[in-house]
Amino acid sequence: MLINLSDVFNTVGKTLETEIPVSGYSFEGSLGSYRLLKGDAFRIKAEGIGKGRAKVSGTAHLYFAGTCDRCLKEAPVEISISFEREFASPDFKSDDEDENEEIHEFMDGFKLDSDALLYDEITVNWPVKILCREDCRGLCPVCGHDLNEGDCGCDTFVPDPRMAVLSDIFHRD
Ligand SMILES: [Zn+2]
Ligand SMILES: [Zn+2]
Repeated sequence: MLINLSDVFNTVGKTLETEIPVSGYSFEGSLGSYRLLKGDAFRIKAEGIGKGRAKVSGTAHLYFAGTCDRCLKEAPVEISISFEREFASPDFKSDDEDENEEIHEFMDGFKLDSDALLYDEITVNWPVKILCREDCRGLCPVCGHDLNEGDCGCDTFVPDPRMAVLSDIFHRD
């Protein structure tokens, strides 16, 4: 959705609040597509701070359908978004090049691209690992048994390959 911030840019203290519905949303991450399980709307509040600039804050609390990296069971991915940053109209230029890039990111003229902003916020908050629980024991590498449900009794000891050569020599006769 494109949110027109023209009025906010023009007037100090002018605010604009909007809620972007997220139902049916899917996050297309670098590792796959994640369906939204539940979540409130993406709430955005913009306030004019003068000279074509706006302070924008946003919040969202989202749960995506994920899979545990260790045991492969379903594991919801909880994403909590809360940010506050500045955006600027196309005619405002900052002397600081980095700042200039930041305040015009996600801007399409006088309009803020909330989809691109939300996507970026989810990416930044996405966990490095998806786990069903912090101490998930994962699957047995031998038989695939879910070790959270108890031990399977498999010998998961991996012998040192150099020892295996020695063992062959001893067992030759
Ligand atoms: Zn797990
Ligand atoms: Zn096993």
